Amino acid sequence: MNGFMQDTGLYWRPLGGNNIDQISGHCYQYTCVRQCQNKIKKSTIVVDLGKFDNHPALGVKNSVAAVPDIRALLEDKSFNFKALFLTHSHPDHLNGIIHYIRAGYKLPTLYGGKYTRLILQDLYQRYDIGKTQQPTFVEIADGEKFKFGDIEIEPVNASHTCFDCFGFIISDGQTTIYHSGDLKTDQSTYFRKPTNLKKLKQYAEKINFVVADFCGIVNDGIAWKEKDVLKKLVEVIRKSRKRKIFLPVYPTHTEMYILAFLAALKLRKNIVFYGNDDFYTYLEIIKKRGIDFEKIAGNRIKIVEGLPNDLAALNNNFVVIGSFNDIGEWFDASPKDSFALITARTYFNPLKGQMNVRNIKFITLKDYPILQGAGHAFLGDWEIIHNILPHAIFIPKHCPCYVAESFRPLAKFLNFEMIKPTPKNNDLFKLCGNQYELISTSPAVWLVAKDDCSFTEVWQKPTSGTGILKRTFSRRKTDENFKIMMCKRRK
Ligand SMILES: [Zn+2]
Repeated sequence: MNGFMQDTGLYWRPLGGNNIDQISGHCYQYTCVRQCQNKIKKSTIVVDLGKFDNHPALGVKNSVAAVPDIRALLEDKSFNFKALFLTHSHPDHLNGIIHYIRAGYKLPTLYGGKYTRLILQDLYQRYDIGKTQQPTFVEIADGEKFKFGDIEIEPVNASHTCFDCFGFIISDGQTTIYHSGDLKTDQSTYFRKPTNLKKLKQYAEKINFVVADFCGIVNDGIAWKEKDVLKKLVEVIRKSRKRKIFLPVYPTHTEMYILAFLAALKLRKNIVFYGNDDFYTYLEIIKKRGIDFEKIAGNRIKIVEGLPNDLAALNNNFVVIGSFNDIGEWFDASPKDSFALITARTYFNPLKGQMNVRNIKFITLKDYPILQGAGHAFLGDWEIIHNILPHAIFIPKHCPCYVAESFRPLAKFLNFEMIKPTPKNNDLFKLCGNQYELISTSPAVWLVAKDDCSFTEVWQKPTSGTGILKRTFSRRKTDENFKIMMCKRRK
């Protein structure tokens, strides 16, 4: 790993978010190499250390996760790896930390937002990781600047589905990179700071590269805005004319907790928070982060946590917000007075059966796709950012390689300059001003973490069209989508 970095300059390497079509386990290395009195001096930071979602597909017995391989950075002191920056709290960007600690590694200082810290503290508790094993954590905010050796890094707020999400401006003085983190350009916000487009404008002349979250690029238009999701929620609930509303949310999708709450409040419906352990854990963390539901509600509605003893006290007029697969007999739900909004694709399917059995009407994302909200930029968001940074070279991440490849003709038409070849995990690029070079390419590995806390090495392989990945992306559909977008723009 070390031998390829003998020339001075800034090096970038994806370690987990860029494989052929495996798109989680995010982790990106930045190493600056300088000559100092005839000696080579390196400074390294890493952005994110996630876990790979599809670890069961790797076929290792007793696996609990798979994580990117940063062992060389931890073991070889010459890298001078001093900081691990965290864009946000989602498992595919954060949970690798847990498995490295369990395997006995000592990680450098972590830098992340307040909410990320709260989620990490919950993980420490779940995995029984004591105080002495926990790396130092420094809370960061937009506007601060940090320096590690020859690398400067500055957090930039990002709109995503949870609190305290960041991108980073990373520079060695010669080359400046905007590492986007997960984001959309949405400036409407009920619980977090929106993407700081103003700062990007300020840095526009300097930014040479954008390491870009292309997760949602196959969608045309602008990613759904929070204010529009809320509006639609209110409209759909109102139109149902029912008193009892069932509105499940994803635990990691904080945005929907808040929007569901605000919709209920707007319609003056009482609220029952009711879900599984994960749901309540996240609810507690949201409150710790500073959201005071009672205070926002004032005396306008009642809020109950857990099953209500007395439905009459809620006037039989309420929204159940939670992660329930089963509404049981506890809510006296009947076709006459009840209605459900199933706002996610797979997770809430059992609920459909529940509603069908009771003959309760419900809507799904097929009826209103907007109701799932959006955490990732669509193509239109990237066009906005491209307008701000017209000269930057785009480095795709958080998408399968074939998506980036398939995007190239449209990218050319829209004047997006894209790095070539499309980076795969473990490819090492040297970035220098507006120049770049692929220095080395070699297969990456996943470290499969097992329940006995050990790691097993497994080569990263393309897994197109299998398991959960098949449902998320299809090569053919991707090609088609980009062709349609191109046609639209030609007209
Ligand atoms: Zn995310």
